[in-house]
Amino acid sequence: MVMCSRRLGSRPSVCVSRVNDYDQVVSRLKRLDAPCHLKTLDTIAGHPIYAVVVNPDADRVKIWVNAGTHGDEPAGVEAALRMLEEWDRELYPATQLLVTPCLNPYGYVHDQRENAQGVDANWAFKRDDVPEVGVVKQIIQERFDAIIDLHEDWESDGYYLYEQIRDRNALGPEITERVSPHCPINGRPEIEGEIALGGVIYPDLELQKRKCGKGVPVEVFKRATNHQITLESPSGFPIDARVEAHLKAIDVVLEAYASERRDLSHARLKPGYVLEPESITEPELTDEDWKDLSEGIRLFNAGAYWESHEAWELVWRRRNEPTRVFFQALIQFAAAYHQLDRGVYHGVVKHMRNASTKLASFPDRFLGVEVGPVKSSLELCLDEALRLGEGKLSTFDRRLVLRIDFNAPEP
Ligand SMILES: [Zn+2]
Repeated sequence: MVMCSRRLGSRPSVCVSRVNDYDQVVSRLKRLDAPCHLKTLDTIAGHPIYAVVVNPDADRVKIWVNAGTHGDEPAGVEAALRMLEEWDRELYPATQLLVTPCLNPYGYVHDQRENAQGVDANWAFKRDDVPEVGVVKQIIQERFDAIIDLHEDWESDGYYLYEQIRDRNALGPEITERVSPHCPINGRPEIEGEIALGGVIYPDLELQKRKCGKGVPVEVFKRATNHQITLESPSGFPIDARVEAHLKAIDVVLEAYASERRDLSHARLKPGYVLEPESITEPELTDEDWKDLSEGIRLFNAGAYWESHEAWELVWRRRNEPTRVFFQALIQFAAAYHQLDRGVYHGVVKHMRNASTKLASFPDRFLGVEVGPVKSSLELCLDEALRLGEGKLSTFDRRLVLRIDFNAPEP
């Protein structure tokens, strides 16, 4: 989606100009069989905007998949169509799915990001005169268990996603894992000015709001769901790979919601996240690893959480388990404090929970780090955050914020 900025001239020049054929989209939609039901939501500049409802009578799970808000991002439209065409009616009988395969047909036909008015509908939620936004407002009269929004990013060298979440299990890491055989993941520690870990961003909505005003991603999450996933495929890769990546990502969400995993009380963790304590032995770190570990701790203790996470990420990339899991936990610890500074409640809670789970199997001292106090601090901080809730996070008792004790080995 490129949550915010419009990047002029960012498109690779090798990209052949193409005119997207909306008639093709429409005829494919009209050929869909039950359980898919086609509805027209509005007609804009002569182009109908369609919604497809799959399993209209199902009532256990409700998911909305949106594509084509930006007309120059065809992989989402194609993925939505393919998903519908290949829908297996046996697989998710209790899931009702609403699909808007192309929200901005005018943009699609003209291969442009904006609609017929020249407006980027994704960032025009407060306007009443933008028909695509009108359609969104019509849809979010209902609530959804999850909302998936399909986008592309012309500048990214790999797949990534934004996950906005409250009281649900995160699915981001599982999505990138399932996507990675089909499309490379953007592994940068920072994407679009947000902390990213393995291609997953838990966005700071206040920041988004300040930068962009009332955006659809912010408002839809506030009004219509507890779980919104915005998927970004890298436009520089072949369309088949981008479509396949989107389809795999959607599968993860559908599967999770069809099973029990959406419920926090049934939290299941990926293997590799929780290690058997017996399997943990201290590895030999290289001088480079030691340098980055201590630099990360120095930065963390100076309150530079973002920078500390960047230092530790260098080690994380170089190591295998169990060291990798340990550094991932440190990174999430730093990310939690960073989100605390920014007042992002769901980020604090999620990162603390994840860090705490990962550290549980580690001994109280590992690689010179006093892990015991970190574990207790995570528990105390998590309790405090949960006690305060989203509205009162600013009154968080800062005395609970920890400095890490660390004794590097003698060189
Ligand atoms: Zn987009």
